[in-house]
Amino acid sequence: MKSLAQLAVITSMMVSTTWILIGFTDSLTSLFKNGLFIEYLRTFLDYEEKIPEDTEGLDPGTQIRSIEFKDVSFSYKDKEVLSHLNMEFREGCTYALVGHNGAGKTTLIKLLMRLYDPTGGSIAYHGKDIREYSPAEYRKHIAVVFQDYQMYGASLKENVVMDDGETHPEDRIIAALKKAGFGERLKTLEKGLDSQVTTEFDRECINFSGGESQKVAISRAFYKDSDILIMDEPSSALDPIAEYELNKAMESAAKGKTVFYISHRLSTMRDADRIILLENGRIAEEGTHAELLAKNGKYAGMWYVQAGRYEG
Ligand code: ADP
Repeated sequence: MKSLAQLAVITSMMVSTTWILIGFTDSLTSLFKNGLFIEYLRTFLDYEEKIPEDTEGLDPGTQIRSIEFKDVSFSYKDKEVLSHLNMEFREGCTYALVGHNGAGKTTLIKLLMRLYDPTGGSIAYHGKDIREYSPAEYRKHIAVVFQDYQMYGASLKENVVMDDGETHPEDRIIAALKKAGFGERLKTLEKGLDSQVTTEFDRECINFSGGESQKVAISRAFYKDSDILIMDEPSSALDPIAEYELNKAMESAAKGKTVFYISHRLSTMRDADRIILLENGRIAEEGTHAELLAKNGKYAGMWYVQAGRYEG
């Protein structure tokens, strides 16, 4: 059990830096009010250390960007989990990170978000080491959509902007919900954006279905409008039509952005511009789906096993 003080550090850090779809204030009351959500983030990121958000640095600005991993290694204590990675990610391209559990996919994303610094090598964003940037400014460029879409007890509006204080333009919120495929449902809500949402039974509140909650979660990425989008495995217990609609919405959220998909399900990633198969913290294979199938290596093996399972 973590002490309250530890929890406070973790939550304030998670909220103000990591979950860049949020713009929560630093007030602890507000943080604890949203405890469920923070718990959920902590589970996903399994976070231990922090790069302080208020570290001074440059603003990355808004020019054309690329991200480059230069001989990047990372160790948790003595255990090396990423080893001498060299990769270049280009603006507007989609990347699929695949590999078995423990291969290093999440750690790579944590480094990209600068939740940790590499223990070897460096990461450059728009040509500069990301350590030169202000973490707060840098992280504004990244949005994350988690696989386990969580709603929290607040208004629909707050569930989109993930903020309980600031004023936000309603037309932008509505546009984001529409893009995510939530437009029709929105029309049916008597109180519109002010509808109270809950995950538990409450007569005054609205319980959205799993698919509807997922759409709201995706609308956060539209609203945030960052240039890097990280999508954690978009799998769910949705029926095929809802899943198809959801994938369409995610595709459209991703348009023009540099997108990283993390998934075990290869079928959702075959259209990525580049598939990177990680194994024990190293790149085992990379290329397009067609290239990797032609290579008939590990990716092809995984693909045929999964394809067989679907056919079965
Ligand atoms: P993936 O996302 O591909 O499943 P991870 O990046 O989560 O892989 O993990 C890579 C390796 O790092 C695994 O061996 C995992 O056990 C280890 N690891 C992950 N997080 C921590 C941590 N906080 N402390 C120590 N080891 C960790």
